[in-house]
Amino acid sequence: MEQINLNLNNIIKENENSILFTTNRPNIVMDHGKGMYLWDTNSKSYLDFVGGWAVNCLGHCPDVIIEAITNQSKKLINASPSFYNEPMLKFAKLLTNNSCFDRVFFSNSGSEANEGAIKLARKYGEKFLNGAYEIITMINSFHGRTLATMSASGKKIWENLYEPKVPGFKHVPLNDINALKSSISSKTCAIMLEPIQGEGGVNKADKAYVETISNICKENGILLIFDEVQTGVGRTGKLFAYEHYEIEPDIMTLAKGIGGGYPLSVLLTKEDLNIFEPGDQGGTYSSQPLGMAVGMAVFNEIINENLIYNAKIQGDYILNRLNELKDIYKLKNIRGMGLLIAFDVPYNKGSEIVEKCLEKGLLLNSPRSSIIRLMPPLVVTKKDTDKMIDILSEALNSIF
Ligand SMILES: *Cc1c(COP(=O)(O)O)cnc(C)c1O
Repeated sequence: MEQINLNLNNIIKENENSILFTTNRPNIVMDHGKGMYLWDTNSKSYLDFVGGWAVNCLGHCPDVIIEAITNQSKKLINASPSFYNEPMLKFAKLLTNNSCFDRVFFSNSGSEANEGAIKLARKYGEKFLNGAYEIITMINSFHGRTLATMSASGKKIWENLYEPKVPGFKHVPLNDINALKSSISSKTCAIMLEPIQGEGGVNKADKAYVETISNICKENGILLIFDEVQTGVGRTGKLFAYEHYEIEPDIMTLAKGIGGGYPLSVLLTKEDLNIFEPGDQGGTYSSQPLGMAVGMAVFNEIINENLIYNAKIQGDYILNRLNELKDIYKLKNIRGMGLLIAFDVPYNKGSEIVEKCLEKGLLLNSPRSSIIRLMPPLVVTKKDTDKMIDILSEALNSIF
């Protein structure tokens, strides 16, 4: 057994020099997954409360995705974005039937969908608002890693990175309506926000705040863009998080959960924003049949298996169980909606807790040093949560 482990670790040692360094990774190689679990090449199992970063909403390697990939790949993998394909047409209809939107554009990542949203807002400003191009976004927001979406993001540590930034973004503090009002000018074409900031540490936009924004947008002809890349597709206990606010954004973006692990994203908008002209927007893999078939299968499974309701009740259960640990380990600000949950830990021990849990076979995420975030697949059960709480308690015991 020792020998096997050594050999497997050699896979990292012998090959990691070929990978452009962008992040520190633990000394393990993930090999396979099923449901709520991942296994590494040493057959050690990990209970997954990260879910590929809020992506694997059906858990790992679900049958419906395997079937969709198998069947569609035998028929048509790629035909080019200049032709319609059947899953593209059906999936588009499924999305417009189940949301307040009329038109969709498919791409491959959240960043790309948000780029599309930014382009559409600028197109709208050019056509209807005398060339207005500015988009107001939130401090601590995360909209992606392309140059424009990094510029849109309100991440402090990115402020001086890759200068010069794409101009035209103003950042204001979340839930501060006066700051937002005073940043609006004749140059403003849109306001863009995550209903719940995910990477920022699970910070919810207040209902009154969003209602006011929605009214300001309507009165001034400014667009409201909801980045639901992380909150969409059942994650928060509603199909889309905008439903919690009883408003309708003009544009919404989806990624992460929509593909269940397959790279897929969607830009959704209303009929009156169907204003792109040929050549304005596109992409080699836009509406690629394999991705369309997977997205449709994932979406249908979420609806058919009532996973939106499961997200709500399991989320409430996780919050309850975490609250039991609150006083013992001085956890603060236990918060979340559905299966997007976070809490604050003392002494900035976030990454130490994540490391300890990893060692004990549990995956958690620490988006910043004082915060632990949980975003398990929507198929999570109470038994999974009980096991998560056991491992987390052990880890916290050994640290505090
Ligand atoms: C993850 C994320 C993105 C970026 O998505 P990618 O697929 O990594 O490009 C954008 N917005 C939000 C809210 C996200 O959580």
